[in-house]
Amino acid sequence: MAAVGRIHSIQSLGAVDGPGLRCTLFLQGCPLRCAYCHNPDTWNFTGGAEYTPEQAAAKALRFRPYFGKKGGVTTTGGEPLAQPEFVAELFSLLHREGVHTALDTSGICDLSRAEEVLRCTDLVLADLKFLTAENYHTYCGADFERVLDFLALTERMSVPLWIRHVVVPGLTDGEQHIRQVAQAARRYSNLQKIELLPFRKLCLEKYRALGIPFPLEDTPEMGGEALERLRQLIK
Ligand code: SF4
Repeated sequence: MAAVGRIHSIQSLGAVDGPGLRCTLFLQGCPLRCAYCHNPDTWNFTGGAEYTPEQAAAKALRFRPYFGKKGGVTTTGGEPLAQPEFVAELFSLLHREGVHTALDTSGICDLSRAEEVLRCTDLVLADLKFLTAENYHTYCGADFERVLDFLALTERMSVPLWIRHVVVPGLTDGEQHIRQVAQAARRYSNLQKIELLPFRKLCLEKYRALGIPFPLEDTPEMGGEALERLRQLIK
């Protein structure tokens, strides 16, 4: 029987979660609690709506005419690897249709289950949030070793990898830190790209509505020019 998945929402077409124009599925449920999370409404494992992989694939395939040569479908969240059977079935259905699949993940997962997902994943967008176990625990509430194990698995399985990093003023915007992120990313032979993403606070209203304190409420958003300088630094 097909694994039923919980989906928070579906974004018809976006250009920021992988190559080309993509349909993005936000999966419901996340075991992490990142200090800068934009989607606290996806944390709860019991929210969202149930879909079979066939239903989710059918939704995504409606936008296929817009995918072009580069685009496709991205699963994000939440943490898509918290629903490995569902994502694996969904991706293999999309592969049968010749559609490119991207997995946006923290890398916190059950490794043995992640393998079945990676077998039908064309691109991993991995969020390398911090570089030490201590910081990862403090700001994300999870074990950094598991992220490294996941990244090593993507390399063993030769799945193309984009490393993403959210740049937060005063927290992850130091030049030395950004150089170290680039260094850590370039250790992986399957790395194709490093993306620095700006910290934003558009999520503030969501936190207020949910009655959850936003730990970075007083942190300013990341400025465009400063971010561009950091991008140039690691070019
Ligand atoms: S992994 Fe993503 S969805 Fe989960 S808490 Fe972190 S930023 Fe939010």
